[in-house]
Amino acid sequence: EPAIRFEHVRKEYPAVRGRAGAAVDDLTLEVRPHEVLVLVGPSGCGKSTTLRMANRLVEPTSGRILLEGEDVTHVDPVQLRRRIGYVIQDVGLFPHRTVAQNIATVPRLLGWDAKRTAARVDELLDLVGLDPARYARRYPHELSGGERQRVGVARALATDPPVLLMDEPFGAVDPVGRRRLQTEFARIQREVGTTVMLVTHDIDEAVRMGDRVAVLSTGAHVEQLASPLDVVAR
Ligand code: ADP
Ligand code: ADP
Repeated sequence: EPAIRFEHVRKEYPAVRGRAGAAVDDLTLEVRPHEVLVLVGPSGCGKSTTLRMANRLVEPTSGRILLEGEDVTHVDPVQLRRRIGYVIQDVGLFPHRTVAQNIATVPRLLGWDAKRTAARVDELLDLVGLDPARYARRYPHELSGGERQRVGVARALATDPPVLLMDEPFGAVDPVGRRRLQTEFARIQREVGTTVMLVTHDIDEAVRMGDRVAVLSTGAHVEQLASPLDVVAR
């Protein structure tokens, strides 16, 4: 059974009502358990929209999205957040909360006690290569871009979700730092076995990180917007 399955999914944003066209049109796609599936394609072809429908930040207009066989529209959003981690380009850490508090966000929402949460925070900081003693009490503005990205990954993994969605996760990091994060993340992904859906416009990153690469395309014609062209094995 696939970790995620998109079945004939379509998304029309209300803002484009009156014009024929959809951000995502008739997308059918499977993400296999424990793989890294990379979504590539030109800007505006619907990559972020696709990702955000999986965790219901965006509601699909039609079609179905199944998470481990279960229709995500039938899953309670708090439970969904526990099962799907989400990492974006500039991470979106809460600026007035420490690294530890940021990582603890979803565990706290789920009612974990302080002891269990603190142990998990330390474990995750170790996993992403940040010494808990040095980093747990810092604020986001006291970190480098690469360190913030590591905290973002740690936060997304806090509840050990089977699925991780990553939208240009290393996009804000300089090329050398990005290379190091890609390598490091590949190790983490193998270690925890998370299924990953990763969006990038960086073909080099797609080839480096992806077990499979799905290409979305935008045609010159509105009706061709975001048809999946191909899914190729690396
Ligand atoms: P990508 O991630 O491939 O750059 P997006 O999924 O962000 O593409 O966007 C796909 C299309 O949907 C674009 O034409 C974009 O302008 C449009 N779009 C994205 N988000 C919204 C929104 N909230 N409201 C209206 N249109 C949107
Ligand atoms: P809240 O304002 O949500 O109650 P807390 O200040 O209690 O947040 O901290 C959130 C979580 O972060 C706590 O559950 C705590 O276990 C964890 N935490 C806070 N500081 C540290 C730290 N220095 N090292 C490890 N975990 C910490």
